[in-house]
Amino acid sequence: MTKFFTPDKLATFESDLTSIRRDIHRHPETAFEEQRTAQIVAEKLESWGIAVHRGLATTGVVGTLKGKRKGQKTIGLRADMDALHLQEKNEFEHASVHANKMHACGHDGHTTMLLGAARHLAANPDFAGTVHFIFQPAEEGLGGARVMIEEGLFDKFDCDAVYGMHNMPGYRSGHFAIRAGAMLASSDSWQIVFKGTGGHGAMPDRGTDPTWVAGQFIVAVQGIIGRNVPSSQNAVLSVGHIAAGSAGSPNVIPSEVLVSGTARSFSPAIRDLLERRLAEVATAIATSGGCTAECKYIRRYPALVNAADQTAIAVEAAARTVGRDNVNANATPVAGAEDFAFMLEKKPGAYIMIGNGGPDEGGCHNVHSPLYDFNDKILTTGAAYWVNLVQVELGDAA
Ligand SMILES: [Zn+2]
Ligand SMILES: [Zn+2]
Repeated sequence: MTKFFTPDKLATFESDLTSIRRDIHRHPETAFEEQRTAQIVAEKLESWGIAVHRGLATTGVVGTLKGKRKGQKTIGLRADMDALHLQEKNEFEHASVHANKMHACGHDGHTTMLLGAARHLAANPDFAGTVHFIFQPAEEGLGGARVMIEEGLFDKFDCDAVYGMHNMPGYRSGHFAIRAGAMLASSDSWQIVFKGTGGHGAMPDRGTDPTWVAGQFIVAVQGIIGRNVPSSQNAVLSVGHIAAGSAGSPNVIPSEVLVSGTARSFSPAIRDLLERRLAEVATAIATSGGCTAECKYIRRYPALVNAADQTAIAVEAAARTVGRDNVNANATPVAGAEDFAFMLEKKPGAYIMIGNGGPDEGGCHNVHSPLYDFNDKILTTGAAYWVNLVQVELGDAA
């Protein structure tokens, strides 16, 4: 029998989940320092009878729950716990008590939604197989997911499939969006140091000028997107930092110019292309100006690629939660990045976006804004999605 688990079935959890979420919001912890948050997560899971493992990637917590029916299949449900280095500008009661730390990406909400699902499933383990609730540190920039994998996440807790979820401001609450294939971009950093002789600003002919070279390079970078990336594919190259010379010496041509930026793409082939072309273009332009270019390309997060089968399962779970009309199964890819991509490199799975509130719902600040807040009204929606996902993956067939 198909079971539809709608968010109203978790109505009795609502006030508890709201207080957990606001408590975590008030006490934000950044990458690999999520000690207090991990403690709350582990204690709650244990209090519901869920076996808990602590310490993967320092503060990671994994809760394991076996269904009451026999089954071999195992799935991982993942939430991130970390906050950002940002000064919160909200003045409500649950605003951050820590200077320059803030839950501005809604990971407080992600953690709470997964806790809500764990509590319900522990009390109603009507499924066949095993669920691992994965609470990871350091999603923001430091790749906590990668570190958990390196420290044996999938050796200790093998998963046939893994699932993740992120809130999306500007998208109506009670709506979900997902797509099969690449949904989020790879995010890499690159850095070029142009070196020449520099010299007197009045006599550029007596030396070589890396600022002139760097200027041409900055213009030429967009030619990589326009002329090298096929029109059927997307990629972004942006310059984020330029450094050379000193403000007090405008008459000195500096001998070094540093240009660095970000590179985003949605496939390994385009990622390779960006890395190769950045170096080729920098070197060729430097050579034409009698300078040299030292090129560094730092691979950070891979593109997030949803597997087709697991995306269909996620769509079904979302449809059971909020109705099929409220699920966009063909969402537009976004050039943001997410370290859940590391887990999806190892295991098939799917990552879904949950609406955090549309423009007509008021107070809709984007993630990473100092005025952002997670929308507590979607806590039971997200938790119900996880419950439905377990039902679709481990419940229906048995
Ligand atoms: Zn973020
Ligand atoms: Zn985030």
